[in-house]
Amino acid sequence: MPTQPDPAVPLTDQGTNMPAKPENILVECVGAAHTYGSGRTAVVAVHGVNALITSGTQVALTGPSGSGKSTLLHMMAGLVPATSGSLTWPAWGGPPLEAAGRIGIVFQGPSLLPALNVIENVAFPLLLADVSGRVARNYASDALKTLGLTDLAQQLPETLSGGQAQRVAVARVLACAPELILADEPTGQLDHQAAALVIDVLLRASEELGAALVISTHDPLIARRLPQQWTMRDGAMLAPGAGLSPAAVAS
Ligand code: ADP
Ligand code: MG
Repeated sequence: MPTQPDPAVPLTDQGTNMPAKPENILVECVGAAHTYGSGRTAVVAVHGVNALITSGTQVALTGPSGSGKSTLLHMMAGLVPATSGSLTWPAWGGPPLEAAGRIGIVFQGPSLLPALNVIENVAFPLLLADVSGRVARNYASDALKTLGLTDLAQQLPETLSGGQAQRVAVARVLACAPELILADEPTGQLDHQAAALVIDVLLRASEELGAALVISTHDPLIARRLPQQWTMRDGAMLAPGAGLSPAAVAS
């Protein structure tokens, strides 16, 4: 029997009587919900989510399109508020937007700045965090190399394929060495080989940086590369393993 709670399970299954140390809790969701709009047009995108992201968490967030994965990731990043329940970042003492560089998010849709070339895009968040231009460029260059994108460094985003742009967005997160990496369907536009590389890179970065990693995907083949799987349906978090077939989880 393990003596410590598994850092990467929804609170519903972990119980609240064995809390992780507060300094290790990056994100804590208790009954967290988000509703877009109001009245007749209200959409309950996320509801009743209990989840704990600690510095050891590596988790795949699975579920069909529309189940609330992106909304929950944006909530964890502090970009979308909880409209009910609570969402806190105990290790940082407040919303992560006030703690620059601690969270890196790979957005599901296009997110590169069109006027900047690839290496400038990757270096940009570092410049915002007051890193010097030369150092930022070195980090950006290393991150591009890790993802096999060095040849694209001088290109503008409009010249990239969707898959290339997605990998640049991953490089941009890695260059910042965040404490929490939230990757929203980072392989959605990639072929099998490129997808495998991106997952390898994210897992390795998470281990080398000691960063928590949450990857949303609707692909069970990607999900089972992560040690834990959480599954969403209609905005709610299911119990661990409930959304994937036993064969998919085990193989
Ligand atoms: P997923 O990432 O799993 O596809 P989303 O979080 O994008 O799920 O969406 C969850 C639900 O919220 C869906 O019904 C979607 O249509 C709705 N939704 C997402 N974004 C918005 C928005 N900005 N305004 C209104 N409804 C939204
Ligand atoms: Mg999504």
